[in-house]
Amino acid sequence: MASPSTTPRDDEAHEGTHEQTREPESALETARRQLQHAAAHLDIDQNVVERLKHPKKVQEVTVPIERENGNVAVYTGYRAQHDSVRGPFKGGLRYHPDVTREECVGLGMWMTWKCAVMDIPFGGAKGGIAVNPKDLTDDEKEQLTRRFTDEIRAVIGPTKDIPAPDMGTDPQTMAWVMDAYSMQEGETIPGVVTGKPPIVGGSKGRDAAPGRSVAIIAREAIDYYGKDIGETSVAVQGFGSVGSNAAKLLDGWGANVVAVSDVNGGIYDANGLDTHTIPSHHEEPEAVMTHEAPETVTNDELLELDVDVLIPAAIGNVLTADNADDVVADVIIEGANGPTTTAASAIFAERDIPVIPDILANAGGVTVSYFEWLQDINRRAWSLDRVNDELETEMLAAWQNIREEFESRDVTWRDAAYIVALSRVAKAHETRGLWP
Ligand code: NAD
Repeated sequence: MASPSTTPRDDEAHEGTHEQTREPESALETARRQLQHAAAHLDIDQNVVERLKHPKKVQEVTVPIERENGNVAVYTGYRAQHDSVRGPFKGGLRYHPDVTREECVGLGMWMTWKCAVMDIPFGGAKGGIAVNPKDLTDDEKEQLTRRFTDEIRAVIGPTKDIPAPDMGTDPQTMAWVMDAYSMQEGETIPGVVTGKPPIVGGSKGRDAAPGRSVAIIAREAIDYYGKDIGETSVAVQGFGSVGSNAAKLLDGWGANVVAVSDVNGGIYDANGLDTHTIPSHHEEPEAVMTHEAPETVTNDELLELDVDVLIPAAIGNVLTADNADDVVADVIIEGANGPTTTAASAIFAERDIPVIPDILANAGGVTVSYFEWLQDINRRAWSLDRVNDELETEMLAAWQNIREEFESRDVTWRDAAYIVALSRVAKAHETRGLWP
């Protein structure tokens, strides 16, 4: 399994051979390489690029809590704010033992591109605490979250920096952040975080949004490459929030979802699985293999199935130099964050296998987070239909923008997405100018 301290690789097809590429590299290394790579395609001020290689601010805090055994445990927390030229910082809070300052900076930079690709008026940030949340009781997690929120209170807020759930955190964690922040501010401020439970200002459709956006982009890619969705076979790795929602939607739109998997392995039916009867990770964790199916496959085999569309939607770094030559899917849609290593991206580029990047495909999450923030600051909840309609509109607009770059510059889809993102961020910087 990939280390969570590594993250999306980007296409480095023009930068040396696969053997020369060290895998995995850190989140920050990847983010800086991709920035430089995208900048090479654009006529932008090198000073702006230099500025974007660095975060605007990194807050490092100590988070002490009293454990249930009476001992005080002291954890380190971070909030790395990369860029806010287009709006308040936005990005997840991660609770994981491998959380580091550098990782938060790299992932925060990557959030800048994700928001820019979607044309959402937010910048990029990431934060977290170096802790294994499984070692804590619920009460200890709540205490940790409240204390951490207080430590970073000065740098977050609905117009400054809006955290969201990430690895090891969930809607309940966000409710605690909102409560701790609101108590100190003396008023209820739901817009300080997104990904909250709907009862305290969360948005309808937020949970399913990343999977929905993956399905929308897969549908557009299927159409772009001249296929009929009713005759398209799909394999999905991971049957959690992203994988199960994407699989069920594509199934509902007529695609033939032939394989799905969870951490234990996958099931395969050449005639198509009934995805709605397979338990998702949320409904029953790791139960895909309990579902009746003609054949089973390992997770490695699933990636190499002869399908039209492959959707890795579980973890990062599953498509690598070791298996990229054996992948025979016609199109890859990145559901997970960073499923394709730099070396694998280069191999797919050489083999003309299009890879639609994560920063577009799973951006439904941050997009509906933006809708949640709009609902919170306007104190007006949207219907699920409205959320889904607006998500569809935003995804199609982003797809169209990236498609134009892809066609006019003859670059990979990943490069096209980064070019769209960087040109928006760079233009905003050039227009606003450097202070003082
Ligand atoms: P999840 O926890 O809901 O589900 C993960 C699924 O992957 C489960 O079915 C699990 O069994 C399976 N899995 C875990 N390890 C595996 C392995 N080694 N091989 C195969 N399957 C494995 O997670 P999720 O929220 O669906 O997230 C999946 C990916 O999508 C992650 O990369 C995440 O960062 C990314 N993502 C999630 C969101 C979101 O809001 N949920 C948004 C954008 C991106």
